[in-house]
Amino acid sequence: MLDLTGKNALVTGIANNRSIAWGIAQQLHKAGANLGVTYLPDEKGRFEKKVAELVEPLQPTLFLPCDVQNEAQIQATFEAIREKWGRLDCLIHCLAFASKESLSGDFSSVSRQDFTQAIEISAYSLISLSRAAKPLMTEGGSIVTLTYLGGVRVIPNYNTMGIAKAALEMNVRYLASELGPQQVRVNGISAGPIRTLASSAVGGILDMIHHVETVAPLRRTVTQGEVGNTAAFLCSDLASGITGQILYVDAGYEIMGM
Ligand code: NDP
Repeated sequence: MLDLTGKNALVTGIANNRSIAWGIAQQLHKAGANLGVTYLPDEKGRFEKKVAELVEPLQPTLFLPCDVQNEAQIQATFEAIREKWGRLDCLIHCLAFASKESLSGDFSSVSRQDFTQAIEISAYSLISLSRAAKPLMTEGGSIVTLTYLGGVRVIPNYNTMGIAKAALEMNVRYLASELGPQQVRVNGISAGPIRTLASSAVGGILDMIHHVETVAPLRRTVTQGEVGNTAAFLCSDLASGITGQILYVDAGYEIMGM
């Protein structure tokens, strides 16, 4: 029943085969979506090569550099979508960044610059990408972002990223309200902890995973594939009545008090 045939989906945030965005891209492809992939460019072009090789089996019809701190690259990405596809149906926002220093130690020790950078890359970017996507979602659409429980509760070391996720989750609600009349749905997936490049920067991530494995109702954490399945569901017509929500894909951890 989950069929994304004929839908054009842009996936951001693939760094390697551990990335949550990679799990999402695979499930969208399996469901029949036509994929576009963006990568964070670096001077030597190493990321471009690595991500290009990884996604090649999914045959993306667009492969573009997009640093969300670079407005010109955002514009160029969506201009390429307009030219090649004419229409966008699904946007996967699966990226975040905070300096290593702001992901451990005292919460109050974060510098103004590190705080602003984390909010800009991890939360403001959902607004800028959605704004660029809006005129291309002419037949409705689905925007999905990735968040974490640390945006709602205090999680050791998550610190500045918790503030960024709180802002991101409120962005989901305001964007859902603005884009709803255009039949564009906006939702967040709050995933359980998964070992990735980004999460390895959070102090004590392995302890967090072990804690979840002990306490969560399913006695384990989740996989990129499980998050990918939920993203594919949210992109599909099966989720046509769902917008402005944060869905927990965390093996049930969020419900536990102790
Ligand atoms: P990854 O490191 O695999 O993905 C993070 C992505 O963000 C990378 O592709 C990174 O690019 C990209 N990125 C960083 N800065 C920018 C920028 N300026 N412009 C464009 N892209 C940028 O980690 P995850 O898969 O874990 O992270 C994906 C999302 O999932 C994040 O929002 C994260 O907070 C969220 N999440 C993760 C959880 C986890 O436990 N792993 C749990 C819940 C939510 P590059 O690597 O090339 O620098």
